[in-house]
Amino acid sequence: MSESNSPRFRAVLDSIPAYRPGRKVVGPGGRSHKLSSNETPYGPLPSVVDAIAATAAGVNRYPDAAAAELTAAIANRFGVAEEEVALGAGSVGLLQQLMAAVAESGVEIGYGWRSFEAYPLLAEVAGVTSVRVPLREEYHDLDAMAAAITDRTRMVLVCNPNNPTGTAVGRAELVRFLDRVPSDVLVILDEAYREFVRDPQVPDGLTLYRDRPNVAVLRTFSKAYGLAGLRVGFLIGHPTVVDAARKTLVPFAVNQIAQAAAIASLAAEEELLERVATLVKERERVREALLADGWTVPPTEANFVWLRLGEDTVAFAETCERAGVAVRPFAGEGARISVGTPEDNDAFLTAAESFPRRH
Ligand code: PMP
Repeated sequence: MSESNSPRFRAVLDSIPAYRPGRKVVGPGGRSHKLSSNETPYGPLPSVVDAIAATAAGVNRYPDAAAAELTAAIANRFGVAEEEVALGAGSVGLLQQLMAAVAESGVEIGYGWRSFEAYPLLAEVAGVTSVRVPLREEYHDLDAMAAAITDRTRMVLVCNPNNPTGTAVGRAELVRFLDRVPSDVLVILDEAYREFVRDPQVPDGLTLYRDRPNVAVLRTFSKAYGLAGLRVGFLIGHPTVVDAARKTLVPFAVNQIAQAAAIASLAAEEELLERVATLVKERERVREALLADGWTVPPTEANFVWLRLGEDTVAFAETCERAGVAVRPFAGEGARISVGTPEDNDAFLTAAESFPRRH
């Protein structure tokens, strides 16, 4: 019998910070600009709201566990077979499914760092070892990532474009990397921000997975499609990878409102991609304005910009907060600022201009 009088959990949980909800930032005149989570500033289209409303009356029933209609719609849209599509509760849900699919004692998972914060968290929860390969000048160091693969590596994550730096690796470099990865190591190309990519050198992962059974592409309805609150992500890959992701999905995790909204979003894709084009223009305007003001801003292919602020990071985020602008600081490293409406972006640029130092 244990001495302790409370339930015992895995020791690794002690290293995971407890969830703390984000503070709402309110500036002068009650104005608030949320540029901290890479969301789209636009609400859902009327057709999507209608689909959501129409589905609400049926929520006494379980969703279609196989999400057959959405799976078919995605397969049709991307020109792949239905057996090549897996769904998850957000792409972060799929990452958790994939971790669960490879997790065994001693298993390593590689990824560039800094990158998406959920990678180390999910690895801890799955009980696998993270191997973080430092970025080189804000970019993935794919040579170092290939060199870091060991006999214990089961999965490598390549976030392209990378969150939070916005930088993206090019086709030649990525192909060279994929050619070096052993065929029993799963490579996930995390393309959460794919729709915002404009650099023609940056490959669409869907052109890379076909002749590589160990490569799969992760996409989401949360960013360009504007459904962050509904939690739908998808993976496109070979059926063996898809099967592993399907087997590790929490049953019914993708709810029917999310399924219906995702189908309606695909039907309205043209309009949604026009919004993406507007955001891309705003992204370039924000970057140009920062550069003109003396900041160093890496080229970005996503819906955010990155400022490497080092020790000034927290002070910079506080300056933005006082102006009602919530950004995402990574203490000691830098801040990520999502692209919002022109008004949001102007509020951010004014705050950045008022900051006394440049980086
Ligand atoms: N991958 C990357 C690189 C991300 O930045 C995010 C969201 N911040 C996700 C995956 C997860 O998005 P979601 O779970 O909403 O699909």
